[in-house]
Amino acid sequence: MAQIGLDTPLKELVGARTANRLADKLELATVGDLLRYYPRKYDQRGKLTDLAKLVVGERATVWGRVLTVTDRDLGFKGPHQGRGRGKGGGRPPVRHITNVVIGDSNRQLTCTFFNQYHWRKALPPGTDAMFSGKVSTFRDKLQMSSPTVAVLSDPSGVGERDDNAALEIIESFPGGVIPVYPLVEGLTQTVLQQCVRTVLDLRPAIEDPVPEVLLADHKLIDLPTALQDIHRPRNHDHLAKAQERLRYDEALAVQLVLARRKAEARNFPAEPCPRVPGGLLDAFDANLPFELTEGQREVGETIAHDLATIHPMNRLLQGEVGSGKTVVALRAMLQVIDSGRQAVMLAPTEVLAAQHARSLRDVLGPLGRGGELGAPAASTAITLLTGSLGAKARKQALLNIASGQAGIVVGTHALLSEGVFFANLGLIVVDEQHRFGVEQRHALRTKHPAGNPPHVLVMTATPIPRTVAMTVFGDLDTSTLTQLPRGRSPIGTTVVPAAEKPAWVERAWQRIREEAGKGHQAYVVCPKIGDDDAEDSTLFEDGTTFDPELDPRADPDTPDAKRPPLAVTQVAAMLRDGPLSDLRVGVLHGRLVPGEKDEVMSAFAAGELDVLVATTVIEVGVDVPNATMMVIMDAERFGISQLHQLRGRVGRGHAPGICLLVSEAPAGTPGRARLDAVAATTDGFELAEADLELRREGNVLGTAQAGRSTALRQLSLLRDREIIERARGDAAGLVGDDPNMARWPGLGAMVSAVIAEQEQVYLDKG
Ligand code: ADP
Ligand code: MG
Repeated sequence: MAQIGLDTPLKELVGARTANRLADKLELATVGDLLRYYPRKYDQRGKLTDLAKLVVGERATVWGRVLTVTDRDLGFKGPHQGRGRGKGGGRPPVRHITNVVIGDSNRQLTCTFFNQYHWRKALPPGTDAMFSGKVSTFRDKLQMSSPTVAVLSDPSGVGERDDNAALEIIESFPGGVIPVYPLVEGLTQTVLQQCVRTVLDLRPAIEDPVPEVLLADHKLIDLPTALQDIHRPRNHDHLAKAQERLRYDEALAVQLVLARRKAEARNFPAEPCPRVPGGLLDAFDANLPFELTEGQREVGETIAHDLATIHPMNRLLQGEVGSGKTVVALRAMLQVIDSGRQAVMLAPTEVLAAQHARSLRDVLGPLGRGGELGAPAASTAITLLTGSLGAKARKQALLNIASGQAGIVVGTHALLSEGVFFANLGLIVVDEQHRFGVEQRHALRTKHPAGNPPHVLVMTATPIPRTVAMTVFGDLDTSTLTQLPRGRSPIGTTVVPAAEKPAWVERAWQRIREEAGKGHQAYVVCPKIGDDDAEDSTLFEDGTTFDPELDPRADPDTPDAKRPPLAVTQVAAMLRDGPLSDLRVGVLHGRLVPGEKDEVMSAFAAGELDVLVATTVIEVGVDVPNATMMVIMDAERFGISQLHQLRGRVGRGHAPGICLLVSEAPAGTPGRARLDAVAATTDGFELAEADLELRREGNVLGTAQAGRSTALRQLSLLRDREIIERARGDAAGLVGDDPNMARWPGLGAMVSAVIAEQEQVYLDKG
C-alpha cells in the first residue's frame, strides 16, 4: 500500500459504513481531518466520575462504582407490556428491567437495561465499570437508558465482561488516559477511538510545518508525536506536551495571518496627509472649548505622524466610554481634509451615525458649514448618508460625496459596500466596532473604489484583554486613552435583586422621579422590544445575535423560560400608567422606522423627554450628558461588557451617574456573578478579564468565533497568553524574513487554512 498521508481518504482505511458516517456527521473525510478532530476531554481509566457534573441531554461516559442492582419481571401480559414499543416490529416488548445504581452516598445515577437479564449478575455491588450513554432524568433522578458497559473491576469474579470492543479499546490506551470525543447522534466513542487507532497504527507520514529551530527554541515536540499523543497519550505529561505543541501551532497560524496582513498593509502606498499650518485643524484647536487630556494629545500626535507617512495608517484606538475618542478622530479627519481629502466615519447603527453627524456639526460649529452662506473660508461640510434618507436627500448626499464637497461623511458600515463614490477618500474611522474582524478590515483596505488605500482608524470602547487584542486586532497598531476628561463623574452601580427585595424596584422608579425633579434624565433598558418578538429575537441591534453563552435559557440557575424577558413596549406602558405617570416617557428600539428613531433620540437629547425606555440600541456612543441614571431590567440577560457599555451612557456630565441592575437571578448564579462583577468595578480592563473568565472560550473572538473554528481548537485566550506572545514574536520574525513564506510551505498552508476559514465566516455573515 502506498504511504498513508494526511490527505489519504478515510474510506480507504476504515469500513465504508463508518467512513460515510464520519463524513456525513462530522465532515471528517481524510486522515488529516480525523487527526485534527481532537478529544474534548480525557478520562482516567478507573477514576470515578463526578456525577454532579453530568449534563442532562448530553452523552457521557461515566466511570462508576455499582451501589445496588435490582431487577424485575413485568410478565408477558401486564399492562406495561410493550408500551407500544413493539409496534411496527423492531424492538421486542419490555419484559424485564434491570436498574443498576452507581455513585456514592451523595449522588447516584441509575442505569436502566431492558430485557438484558445478565446485568444483575455481571454488575454486583462494588463493581467498577464504565457506562456510556445519554443522560436523562426519570422522576427527578439522573438516569441512563441502555448504556454500553465495560466492566473494569469485578469484586466477585463472577461477572462476565460485556461490550468487548469497548473494553478492548479502553484497555489499549497506554497510561489509561482515555480520550472523549465530541459526538453527534449515530457515532459512539468506541467507533471514533477505533478509527483513530487504526489510522495511527498505520503511521501516516506527517510533515512538520514549523521550522525546527523554533521547535528547539521553545522545546516543543514534533507534530507526528503531538498528534499521536493528543489521541493516545502515553500519560498526562505526554498529553500536556502534545497540547502545548498544538496550541502553539494554532497561535502561530493566526499570528502569521495577522503579521502578513500588517506587513501587506504597511507596504501599500498612501497619500501622505501632513499637518497643514493654518488649516482647519489649527482653527479647530484654537476654538476647542476644553483642554485635551494628555492622552488625547499624545495619541493625536501619533496619529498625526501616521497620517503624514507614505503608507496607510492602521490603528486601533481603545478608550473607555467617555474617554473622548471622538475628538481624537475628528482631529485626524480635519488633518486629512486639510490635505484636500475626505474622511468617512462609520457607526454600527443609524442612530449612532445620526448622532455622530449631529455632534460633529455642533463641535465644529461654523467650521463644519462649508458651502453654506457665511461659512469661514477654511471650512468643510458634513454629510450624513443612511438608508433612511429620502430619495432626493440621498441623491444630494451622494453628489456631495462624489464632488468632494463633503469633507466628512458619516454613515453605517453599509456605506462602503454600497459602492458610494468618493472624490478623494483619505481616512476611514470605524467607531465602536469590536465585531469588525480582520478580513473586514482587510477588505476595507483593499476593496476601496480607486486610488491608494485610505488610512484606517478603528475605535473601540470595549476594553480588550491583551491576548484578545493580540488575536483579534493583531494586524493593527494600538493606542489607548487611559484617562477620562476632567470633570467626569463617577458612576455608582447597584444590583437590585427584584425577587428578594421587590421594594427596591419601587425605590428605583422613585429615584428616577428624583433625578427628573433635578432636571436630569434617565434611561430604562430592556432586553426585548415587544411582546410579539420572535422568541429568539435579535438582541443586539447592530446585527449580531444574542450570545448564547450569556443566554440565561442556557443557564439552569436563572429563572429562565418561566417568564419571557421584559420588553420595552410593556415596561414603557407600565411606567407611563404607574410610577412615572407624571414624567415624559419615550421609547427607542430597532423596530421604529429610522426617521422615528432619530426624532426620539433628538427629543431626548434636547431634554424634551425625561425617560427613555430602550433596547441596547443605546449601547454604544450615545451621548446625552444630562442623563444621570440608568435602570437595566433583567440585567442578567446582558453580558459584562455590554452592561459596562450601557452604563457608560450616564455620568457623562457633571452630576454623578447611577446605574441600577435589576435582576431576578438568585444570588450565587452565574448571571448574578456577572452583575456583581459589574457593580464591583468601573475599570473596564478588569471587567474585560472577568468577562473572559466567566465566558467560555471562543466567544470573545468576534469573527473567528464560529463554533467550528478550526483555527482555535486547543488554544485558550485566557490560559495561553504566554504561547500567544511567543507565537506573535515568531510570526513577526518569519514574516519579516520571508513575507511570502516561500521557505516554509507548511506554514504557508497553515496560513491559508486560517484565511479560508475567516473569509468563510465573513461571507456567511453576509
Ligand atoms: P467616547 O470615547 O466614549 O467616544 P466621546 O468622544 O463621546 O467619548 O466624549 C465624551 C464627552 O466628553 C463628549 O461630550 C466630549 O465633548 C467630551 N470631551 C472629550 N474630550 C474632552 C476633554 N479633554 N475635556 C473635557 N471634555 C471632553
Ligand atoms: Mg464614542
